[in-house]
Amino acid sequence: MAGFNWFWKAMGAQTERNSKKSKAIVTDSLKATAALSQLSDAEVAKAARKSVKDGDIADKAQFLAALSVASERRLGLAPFHVQSQGVLRLLEGDVIQMATGEGKTLVGAMAATGFALTGKRVHVVTVNDYLAGRDAEWMRPLVEFFGLSVASVTEKMDSSARREAYLSNIIYAPVNELGFDVLRDNQITDRREAVQARADVAIVDEADSVLVDEALVPLVLAGNRPGEAPTGQITNVVSRLREDVDYSTDPDGRAVSLTEHGARRVERELGIDSLYSEGNIGTVLVKVNLALHAKALLIRDIHYIVSEGKLQLIDASRGRVADLQRWPDGLQAAVEAKEGLEVSEGGRILDTITLQELMRRYPLVCGMTGTAVEATDQLRQFYDLHVSVIDRNDELRRLDESDRIYATVDEKNRAIVEEIAHLHESGQPVLVGTHDVAESEALAEVLRERGISVNVLNAKNDAEEARIVAEAGEVGQVTVSTQMAGRGTDIKLGGADEADKAAVVDLGGLAVIGTSRHRSSRLDNQLRGRAGRQGDPGLSVFFVSLEDDVVSQGGAGETISAQPDETGRIESKRVSDFVAHCQRVTEGQLLEIHAQTWKYNQLLADQRVIVDERRAKLLDTDQAWLELMQRAPQRADELDALPESIKESAAREVMLYHLDLAWADHLELMDDVRESIHLRAIARETPIDEYHRIAVREFKELAQRAVDSAVETFETVEIDQDGAHLEDHGLSRPSATWTYMVSDNPLAGSGNSAIAGIGNLFR
Ligand code: ADP
Repeated sequence: MAGFNWFWKAMGAQTERNSKKSKAIVTDSLKATAALSQLSDAEVAKAARKSVKDGDIADKAQFLAALSVASERRLGLAPFHVQSQGVLRLLEGDVIQMATGEGKTLVGAMAATGFALTGKRVHVVTVNDYLAGRDAEWMRPLVEFFGLSVASVTEKMDSSARREAYLSNIIYAPVNELGFDVLRDNQITDRREAVQARADVAIVDEADSVLVDEALVPLVLAGNRPGEAPTGQITNVVSRLREDVDYSTDPDGRAVSLTEHGARRVERELGIDSLYSEGNIGTVLVKVNLALHAKALLIRDIHYIVSEGKLQLIDASRGRVADLQRWPDGLQAAVEAKEGLEVSEGGRILDTITLQELMRRYPLVCGMTGTAVEATDQLRQFYDLHVSVIDRNDELRRLDESDRIYATVDEKNRAIVEEIAHLHESGQPVLVGTHDVAESEALAEVLRERGISVNVLNAKNDAEEARIVAEAGEVGQVTVSTQMAGRGTDIKLGGADEADKAAVVDLGGLAVIGTSRHRSSRLDNQLRGRAGRQGDPGLSVFFVSLEDDVVSQGGAGETISAQPDETGRIESKRVSDFVAHCQRVTEGQLLEIHAQTWKYNQLLADQRVIVDERRAKLLDTDQAWLELMQRAPQRADELDALPESIKESAAREVMLYHLDLAWADHLELMDDVRESIHLRAIARETPIDEYHRIAVREFKELAQRAVDSAVETFETVEIDQDGAHLEDHGLSRPSATWTYMVSDNPLAGSGNSAIAGIGNLFR
């Protein structure tokens, strides 16, 4: 224990030293700024270049001064001291915590420029397309001031536009596009087809969302092949099953299974002997389970919406439609079937990568967010990253009230409506954070019935986001929203032009209401952070009921007695401590799930590194030809007349085809193993050990199998002036590929609405 304490003390001291040092450098830079501001643009740019020595910024004060002058001249923004401190911490590779509205975009761009001046290529990782495009254009004049180039990569761009963009010094791109390009570049058979150029640094915006909340979301590259979907008959039979009679769901709504009775009923109605027979277990039973999962656990308007005849998933952590997300094939199809929609074509997964794996490919990662401190453990454990807290430019003037706790959800909801009406009466703008689409709509409806007009911002209308956010700070405005995380636009008091700012300040600024605690206090703070930006006044308060998920799940089994008043409100320190305790428990559970899942992923991540190396070697050298020539000398002789370059590229294509196929097979197999592994746990094997054992064994064979198959193909496939004719051999690569994000946890919503019954939440 003594050692432990010593460690933390030392860490604390170091953090303080770092921050003292940065402050001293920023102070020095002020004098340098005064001097540099007398000089011409070209001279300022030159001064910045001179501050760099041996790939490092040697004279940091000079560097900051040059950037300040450039920012003021080109963007009209003189960086605040705290922003300059943030820049220094990013350059050291930290995740910095800066509150909403403190100007993180400029900080990120200044740090990116710093890295670029030292010859490094930088990816500035954004959470969406819109922000990538906006920030790159906004910051372009600053970057170009120093003779550096900047570009953005967005979803709509074709490969030649991307290729060009990636050659810039600084590239703004959403995290999923970066990942998809990695996956696509891992399918090429000619180096010239690659779009991404190597990057040295990733600066991650909303770092906790990307690096922690979504870290385990896999990005998937799939190739065309019809998928397996439940047939209409199975969907029909399952749709008639009754809860608690034919199937039962576990209390936290994450799993569902047939009862004995239900299984007999399905067998009878499908006219089969046993769902669990050898012949049915891998086919019919799988489909029945998918259909049941779709029916019982996935709820319209909470987990997905149906729009224009298509299923659209709701990204729970961002509260918006996730354009590129789908569930694993069978499940997606099952939900489509349940909603009577056209079942979309499935495909074969060619490759996948999680965001965590993607980010760990960068030699240096740093980032910024409003809520880093609460993610300190995860950032250290999974990325070895340190958190630096940057002071606010202006003091925080937001009042964070303690939670208002009620015994039941009904009482809580009534109190929420009363509080909104009360605040609204004075004209103070109110932002309400709800957990899902259904809850936001139910609340909006009740408010409208009381004659309060509301703007609703959720996955169904996020196209109107810019307008709604612009209006959210106006006098008398009530905005009901789902998750505000990752919505990178801040709410200005008195409207987008701040015309009525003084009036709204007099009213107390923006009031933020949370309708329940999130599963982590970090998410609570993301919501709170919408109020009180840059020294504005503001208010935040959360409503909690003892029936909320966080309380019942985190409190698992523990009960607490309390004396509510006639409105159901409980005012007791003991109870509020209990709520905080429950939230800490759910935070711990999330961390544990993350750590467990990471263990499963890590092995595949390591194996991918080996496959990537092999792939690069085959792609960039004549290795494929050398190996095949050695293994099949006779065939090599037959090709003697062909030019070297043709022989080499034909060999390369053959080898890569089989390597990629073997890898895709491996991923598919390991996916199945993971699905079935909990069954083995029953047989007293430790799941993770068993998983590792299989993964290692299979991987050993993978390389050999890929080469053996390549030799076989090489000996039989036609090879001429046009290369290897793999298609005629039935070995063509998929003609179409597409990409998507798998919503790792389709049940990530709060679940409160499901329990309370949708629609009459607030009555
Ligand atoms: P964040 O991402 O931290 O919430 P933004 O980067 O969107 O904040 O910036 C918020 C607002 O602050 C923007 O309108 C921006 O123009 C303004 N801003 C940033 N830095 C400065 C500065 N040094 N001086 C004046 N305004 C600034």
